[in-house]
Amino acid sequence: MRTHYWETRQSLTPQKALSFLKEGNERFLNNLRINRNLLQLVNETADQQFPFTAILSCSDSRISTELIFDQGLGDIFSIRLAGNVASINAIGSMEYACKILGSKLVVVMGHTNCGAIKSACDGASLDNLNEVLSQIKPSIEAETETVNNRNSANKRFVNNVARLNVIHNMQMIREKSAILAELLERGEIDLVGSMYDVETGKVEFLSHHYLETEVYESNTLQSR
Ligand SMILES: [Zn+2]
Repeated sequence: MRTHYWETRQSLTPQKALSFLKEGNERFLNNLRINRNLLQLVNETADQQFPFTAILSCSDSRISTELIFDQGLGDIFSIRLAGNVASINAIGSMEYACKILGSKLVVVMGHTNCGAIKSACDGASLDNLNEVLSQIKPSIEAETETVNNRNSANKRFVNNVARLNVIHNMQMIREKSAILAELLERGEIDLVGSMYDVETGKVEFLSHHYLETEVYESNTLQSR
């Protein structure tokens, strides 16, 4: 099976799309994955796709969104970049998913123990990767809880930065895409942040209240 056909997509809401992801991660955590006939799905999706969500996640080999959310072919419009940075190409992909394909949800998903975040925390430099690292730097500056050991050896610091990086990239999406901002304003889509724990396989969705608090704090800190 797959999650969505054209008929079921008509009644899809952002809230339902989010619940599909939460239920899928629960199945993954409990080893209750749906037994899909992938070759049949190849046939069913050959002419059309109706992905219910777009997910911006890290390229990390452990973060396959179809697996951790237990979804099939044609369900997730998957955008993966080291450090889950909302580059202009990533944002353009989201616009395509939501405006053209009708996805109802945009998820920005960071994860614990992220190599890109760790590299940025250590001030690494690597040719073309530097563009990615420069997009993570504002989140390092926004992390003010950690006084000592602000480097990749400090797990808590790294994971704090990863979480702030999710929030920062959500802000980038709102700021840089008039199309997505309008769909959000009209309530046709939702934008949510999340963190994947590489030790447990669990996805934590960040509450809107939490986001507002963090955004406020990081803005306040930046203006000092
Ligand atoms: Zn990563």
